[in-house]
Amino acid sequence: MSKQKLGLNTICTHVGEIKDEQFKGAISPIYLATSYEFDSVDVKRYPRYFNTPNQEYLSKKIAALEHAEAAMIFSSGMAAISHMFLAFLQKGDHIVVQNTLYGGTSNFIREEFHKYGISYTFTDGYTISSFEAAIQPNTKVIHIETPSNPLLTITDIKAVANLAKSKGIISTIDNTFASPVIQNPIDFGIDVVMHSATKYLGGHSDILAGAVASSQEHIERIWNVSKNLGGSLSDMTVWMLERSMKTLALRVKAQNKNANKLAKFLERHEAVSKVYYPGLKSHPEHKLAKSQMRDFGAMMSFELVEGIDAMAFQRSLNIIKSSMSLAGVESTMLLPSETSHALLTQEQREAVGISNRLIRFSVGIETYKDLKNDIKQAIAQTKTAAFA
Ligand code: PLP
Repeated sequence: MSKQKLGLNTICTHVGEIKDEQFKGAISPIYLATSYEFDSVDVKRYPRYFNTPNQEYLSKKIAALEHAEAAMIFSSGMAAISHMFLAFLQKGDHIVVQNTLYGGTSNFIREEFHKYGISYTFTDGYTISSFEAAIQPNTKVIHIETPSNPLLTITDIKAVANLAKSKGIISTIDNTFASPVIQNPIDFGIDVVMHSATKYLGGHSDILAGAVASSQEHIERIWNVSKNLGGSLSDMTVWMLERSMKTLALRVKAQNKNANKLAKFLERHEAVSKVYYPGLKSHPEHKLAKSQMRDFGAMMSFELVEGIDAMAFQRSLNIIKSSMSLAGVESTMLLPSETSHALLTQEQREAVGISNRLIRFSVGIETYKDLKNDIKQAIAQTKTAAFA
């Protein structure tokens, strides 16, 4: 199947399917074997080698979606991130990382890297000059996340990729928040793209998985480390992920549409003091977002005005769930200070602009007016309680 000529929904539905030659079933069979005869074939298949039939074929779908030569699937987003970093960094090396980053990633860097003799610098911000200033002679990787979690800052992908290339540095990106439906960093020169597939790729809040996509050469380098670390995913879950990804583009587009409207609604609401969403004209990097994203995503954050308790507001919601994780078909909200960034100290959170009043909103596929009405009634209830 020629991948380049296929449309997004066709890639989601068909690329990486395993043909059921035996029974002619309409979907990929699951191969659960952990042992494969190898005397008659040239590939030694073993689940920890990331090459069972289901792992191998689903990787093709992810590679096609990210405009990459190859991909690998992992047992979690953190497995994908950690294996990717450890493939390109060794003792004595240095990495430059964006300071507005998923809490688990910055935690991994802060808690583990010193054990490997790898040094790191968190940038002062996310503009190109802050990356440039952080580069050292032994810098081997620059890692970015855009839009970032949870403040939806936008980093200039092309500028970072060019900067890295000019210095012989590998550039990596966490593309989880955007998904490949609306952002393809490899088109802008990024070397390695990673995903928490637990999020949009899975999309139903029932799969923990990760993925990386890159050139064949870089994927081989990652594979050489990963086979030793052992973070591969069970074939049952790989199969579920394949099924989920058939509707990836449909889901993400519906979520984006709701998010665009909800961001505008929240921005106009008197009880909301600030909305962080790259699709809003008021977002400082709106133009940049427009230049590198096909839509603006379904993640946003907002702050309620002083006097309205964010926790009480969340408890008053009927449809929107107050829960961890994001990107499922169901809408969810959480307070980053209590969850995703709880492992950081108050000062570290403040340094990256995360207040205790900040609410992160992952917009689902529900009917727009129901989501809007749910927010309205929760604000009304919380306001009444606060001012009673
Ligand atoms: N990257 C981002 C942007 C995330 O939001 C998360 C998890 O929330 C991860 C990486 C880690 O992924 P996982 O929980 O699948 O290990």
